[in-house]
Amino acid sequence: MKQTTKRAYNFNAGPSALPLEVLQKAQEELVDYNNTGMSIMEMSHRSKDYETVHNEALSRLKTLYAIPDNYEVLFLQGGASLQFTMVPMNFLSEGKKASYVMTGSWSEKAFKEAKLFGQAVEAASTKENKYRNIPTLNEIQFDENDAYVHITSNNTIYGTQWKEFPETGEVPLIADMSSDILSKEVDVSKFGIIYAGAQKNLGPSGVTVVIIRKDLLEKANTTIPTILKYTTHADNNSLYNTPPTFGIYMLGEVLKWVEAQGGLKAIEKNNDEKAKVIYDVIDQSNGFYKGHATLESRSLMNITFRVTDEELEKQFLAEAKEAGFIGLNGHRSVGGCRASAYNAVPFETCQALADFMVEFQNKHS
Ligand SMILES: *Cc1c(COP(=O)(O)O)cnc(C)c1O
Repeated sequence: MKQTTKRAYNFNAGPSALPLEVLQKAQEELVDYNNTGMSIMEMSHRSKDYETVHNEALSRLKTLYAIPDNYEVLFLQGGASLQFTMVPMNFLSEGKKASYVMTGSWSEKAFKEAKLFGQAVEAASTKENKYRNIPTLNEIQFDENDAYVHITSNNTIYGTQWKEFPETGEVPLIADMSSDILSKEVDVSKFGIIYAGAQKNLGPSGVTVVIIRKDLLEKANTTIPTILKYTTHADNNSLYNTPPTFGIYMLGEVLKWVEAQGGLKAIEKNNDEKAKVIYDVIDQSNGFYKGHATLESRSLMNITFRVTDEELEKQFLAEAKEAGFIGLNGHRSVGGCRASAYNAVPFETCQALADFMVEFQNKHS
């Protein structure tokens, strides 16, 4: 019955595919959660049942991501975009500057918000190279008394990803990990703050995860609105106001699914294999397909490429759509093609795209 559910070849960039098992479990529990006669959506966020869901999601994330005890995990709203604002509001104090590594459109948006609050400068930029690469670590410039250094760990639009992270010493390193959080093991202790909107790897849109080192909370600006202070949410276990309860429930279920896959090592291995089948087709196409990112900076999450003949590219996208592939158009700001192979996209879906690409090339060259 359930196994025959028809699933699209979903390469959407976000919101994106969720694990089928998670959707089915949510469906089973949707109307009557844990024999309460209510949906989880209909419950008080102060109820015992919801509280368990909330706290289990928090502790599962801490365990899975090996988050050290001197970090707080917060479930907020407003997406990564609100974090672009909250980070400088809380931490870009007068007389300090923040350094931003520019690796794509999301870095630009984050940078723009910081400049509204104080002094923000570019620590490095690969814009001149059309954001095809991540800068090398020694190209990144910052000062020892900077408020923080900000990076975008995976560039969803350009399809690049950091493979190693800069050592920033006493300066907090802040990362927008919206599109690769939980896709591989990460040494959280290198970061002052990690933030991510949930809708790529963690669950449905509506929840934003923030992982923040506790000592930073003490240093945060206190003269900003209550709801925008990290301390407000930390002091209230992310229950200061009504949280997105259904989204947090879904996040908890996604985390259980990640555990069942074998944890982050297994997830990473799977992501490697998924990206490889598609990159291999690009690399073996004799230039019929061309990747946007340089080899060293390629993202395992967002595979960006062109069909080198522009007319054929239109046809490729049209035929792919016809064949049931969803979400392959590149971001409206850059065009081309993009396959987003987030955690929940099965290997078989990537293999199907690789086969389709080979077939398309054989037909047209
Ligand atoms: C999707 C995305 C965002 C925007 O997230 P919202 O939740 O829509 O605000 C920001 N940064 C990165 C890297 C993204 O992939």
